[in-house]
Amino acid sequence: MRQKKNNIADLLLQLSGVRRSGGGWIARCPAHDDKAPSLSFTITESGRLLAHCFSGCSFEEIRLALGLSGEHFFPSSRTTEIGGPTPEQIGTQTKADRLWKTSWPANPDHPYILKKKIKPHQLRHIGDSLLVPMQDSSGDLWNLQFIGPDGRKVFLKGGRTKSLFTVIGEPCEGRIYIAEGFATAATVLELTGDACFLAFSASNLPPVAQVVRRSFPDAEIVLAADADPAGERYSEEAARAINGLVAYAGRVIDGR
Ligand SMILES: [Zn+2]
Repeated sequence: MRQKKNNIADLLLQLSGVRRSGGGWIARCPAHDDKAPSLSFTITESGRLLAHCFSGCSFEEIRLALGLSGEHFFPSSRTTEIGGPTPEQIGTQTKADRLWKTSWPANPDHPYILKKKIKPHQLRHIGDSLLVPMQDSSGDLWNLQFIGPDGRKVFLKGGRTKSLFTVIGEPCEGRIYIAEGFATAATVLELTGDACFLAFSASNLPPVAQVVRRSFPDAEIVLAADADPAGERYSEEAARAINGLVAYAGRVIDGR
């Protein structure tokens, strides 16, 4: 019988392959022979652990493997809900990965690319839809955004969206932009030469801004906001939280 662990620092030391991922961590699962880190976990403000094994180990198996008492954990039903991806999100991840691997580099003559006067950058296409990869801070692909020839945008059903992003260009500790959509992000990079993250929706701007700030603590981060109520509200919320700036993309005037 292992000694009861009293704090989370002990836990972090005990796990291997620990790295930051989004708002939490990923590590090798102690409850199975884990080669690729598949334990996703976060620690709440009250010091409790929320853990989820992608390979399907139960909450009880993880708890026993760590020698932790129940007081450190939320009940397993909440663990899946709050602490890590749901089985449906993992299913979508598999599908996204397969579609991405079977897609083609995006056609620069795609109607959406032509209409927005941008380059396709790293986008790919399947049929007549452009695919925008949706990654986490570890670079793992979780979902895809499809953009149709008419500009209609959809995600894979049931997939994760929160905190996911794509980055256009090479970000560095200079100036980094964050925008809602691909067309704005591509335009920003092409006009300024600065990398631009895209968050896919206004409400995802604050969590993505946090991810960017953690990766680039000294960068000047500028929210390239869509000039609509949601764009303004969430861009300003994100900028305040990460000590960034807001520029209204809808009001940029190109006088050339
Ligand atoms: Zn496991």
